[in-house]
Amino acid sequence: MREPKFHDEEGRIAALIRYDVLDTPPEAPFEKITLLVKDVLQVPICAVSLVDREQQWFKSIQGLDTRETPRSISFCAHTIRTDEALIVTDALQDPRFSTNPLVLGEPHIRSYAGVPLQSPDGYNVGALCAIDVVPREFSDAQLGILRSFASLVVDELELRRIAERDHLTGALTRRGFVEQVKKEISRCRRHGRESVLVLLDIDHFKRVNDGHGHPAGDSVLKAAASACLEGLRENDLLGRLGGEEFGILLTETDAGGGLEAAEKLRKAIAGLRVDVAGGLRVTASFGVAPFAASVSKPEDWIARADEALYSAKRGGRNRCVAANALADAIAA
Ligand code: GH3
Ligand code: MG
Ligand code: MG
Repeated sequence: MREPKFHDEEGRIAALIRYDVLDTPPEAPFEKITLLVKDVLQVPICAVSLVDREQQWFKSIQGLDTRETPRSISFCAHTIRTDEALIVTDALQDPRFSTNPLVLGEPHIRSYAGVPLQSPDGYNVGALCAIDVVPREFSDAQLGILRSFASLVVDELELRRIAERDHLTGALTRRGFVEQVKKEISRCRRHGRESVLVLLDIDHFKRVNDGHGHPAGDSVLKAAASACLEGLRENDLLGRLGGEEFGILLTETDAGGGLEAAEKLRKAIAGLRVDVAGGLRVTASFGVAPFAASVSKPEDWIARADEALYSAKRGGRNRCVAANALADAIAA
């Protein structure tokens, strides 16, 4: 195991945020793990706890009906400061926990075994813990089991983090794309570089689905995404933001270049003959938003492009409209 980074709380919080799991609903892989640990270790309570600045959040918890507690009373907040594990055989005899409200009151914790959830870059973001309401020992074998399950929890968190590609189109997922837009905003701010965000929405897509079926709609999405990927430069990024809406990040490109690139993609999509019903034709509308000083987060930038996209739809579709220069619409 790598040396854990105990003294870098900001880095630890950043690692936690990267996992993007706080405040998310229960998910099967984590539920399975806590259920298994509860059974195998014969404890009434088991949790995957993520330790945030002020709270611990339970990504999964068995035997207790709560999703969070203050960090100040969390046992797992102690576990993340250890390298291996924290074992408490009788909380009433342990000065760190003997006056803890979770010990003196509900759920009356008396014993605890927790193993840190350590990210591959060495941050303990939380803990997998087994809790009992009577004093007890945990054997080496049981700790070994807890350790193996903790590493499965981290694997699962990592898988979620890197699942950045949309299976149908090969574009980045919304989450992956927004993450890249966030990075680009800091580059634009720091180095004064120019970049352009484009939103693209397929026109009358509902008619494709209604008229030819969902699989035909899927083929259109795939073909449109491929046309975009082919037309983009190596450093540009394509993300699928929702059903038939895509985002394109054109790096180191000015407003004029952005509109030109969007126009090229518009023509490429309008020129497609999708291999359905003897060659289906579709068009798309584009909103083009160059980076602006008023943009401080991805939502700001996306909203600017979305406004332009809306204007392209209102203007008759199959066209590109630039934000803040709506009069410059390039009509098809
Ligand atoms: P507009 O020109 O105004 O954009 O009209 P539209 O019909 O494209 O827009 P609308 O938002 O009304 O319809 C989008 C449709 O996309 C509705 C939804 O069922 C469909 N859709 C969303 N995701 C998928 C998908 O993954 N595959 C397929 N085939 N259809 C999808
Ligand atoms: Mg549409
Ligand atoms: Mg849409």
